[in-house]
Amino acid sequence: MPTTLNGILARSRRIFCLGLLASTLGVTALPAWAGDCPGNPDAIGTSRTLVVDPREHPRIGTMQYPETLPLKDHEVVLTFDDGPLPPHSLQILDILAHECVKATFFTIGRMAHDYPQDLRRVLAAGHSIGTHSQNHPLSMNRMPIERARQEIDEGIASAAAALGDPAAVAPFMRIPGLLRAKDVEDYLASKGIQVWSADFPADDWRHISADRVYQLAISRIEAKGKGILLLHDIQARTVAALPRILRTLKERGYHIVHVVPATPTLPKTPTDPRDWQLHPTSETVAISHWPKVPSFSFASTDTLPAPAVSASDLDDGKLMLLPETFDRSRRFVRGAVPLPEDAPWPRQSPVMAISAATTLPVPAQSLFAIPEKSAAKLNAVVQLPHHAARAVAPDRGEDAIAHLISLDASAAKRTIPGSAPVTQSGLH
Ligand SMILES: [Zn+2]
Repeated sequence: MPTTLNGILARSRRIFCLGLLASTLGVTALPAWAGDCPGNPDAIGTSRTLVVDPREHPRIGTMQYPETLPLKDHEVVLTFDDGPLPPHSLQILDILAHECVKATFFTIGRMAHDYPQDLRRVLAAGHSIGTHSQNHPLSMNRMPIERARQEIDEGIASAAAALGDPAAVAPFMRIPGLLRAKDVEDYLASKGIQVWSADFPADDWRHISADRVYQLAISRIEAKGKGILLLHDIQARTVAALPRILRTLKERGYHIVHVVPATPTLPKTPTDPRDWQLHPTSETVAISHWPKVPSFSFASTDTLPAPAVSASDLDDGKLMLLPETFDRSRRFVRGAVPLPEDAPWPRQSPVMAISAATTLPVPAQSLFAIPEKSAAKLNAVVQLPHHAARAVAPDRGEDAIAHLISLDASAAKRTIPGSAPVTQSGLH
């Protein structure tokens, strides 16, 4: 703290004039403005600090929930799961420090126990620290609630012990593998803990290249325009990809937002309820109506991703799914690639949608069950009536989440002492 405080006091008069704010927010809540980053005048920085009240918005992240953080267009929140684990977590901290970026870390209790000094470095660097259970079980969606409570409580206790201060642990939790369950969510809500899903992953727990992680992160951010990025600070590929991700975000006009919890002395940032919707205006995004289905798919790694789902309740029951595997010429990147003439966007007539369906492939109902290597099968085109898709998708969605979690778990197992080595089957 003294070092951080001295550093801040030595900075510009502008910062000094915010002394009142600093005393209110605590030093760690001060944003580091781009252009005011020591040693890196071209840093992306942290554009603002968003103070949230977990009790008002107990579940966020459009991968699974209707609400997400009240971000403006081109604002991104960085999150890192599963650490701390040296050396990667420390390298991530160095990269973030170089760019004066603040993030949120979801620590595993056992990792906090094993590497308490590294978790303290995360805190000292001014990041938010939430929790991610004690042992990273991939079964919180089906385990007895008593066990789930134990995982949650022990994870928090381990983080608090490592940090030496229970108040240093933010009431933020990411459920391992995103394997949500209502009774788990209810328990967390009863404790005033906010469940963080995400708005887009970068698949950095999978055996893919750092370049691929970069591509997925940027293309998925571009597809939604704002949101919570899910990364893992225990992965070498994430360390390798992160500087480029931050450079590209800066070049494309994105801003990094730091999120901290409200406290009795730190009031929440005023927001409108509509701000907590990903696209609160006229846009109709399937996720908004389909809260428990992941908005991503595990498709071929040979092509860049596009928005996973685009559907509307307003187009008279027509559902158009945009798989990640359609070719680049049709890839939807905001402002970069023109849309096809017959683009099946919401609010078009059923005739238009059907016509477009013949040119834009729709993933088969079995999409989520297809192993990643079986990319060829994704070419199958099945037009799903909207309401039929609604009936089918939730189950498939659970499969996808389980798939994600199993891989996520594999990553975690490698890092949890005493766990079995991960197998490579089914992974790239
Ligand atoms: Zn995890």
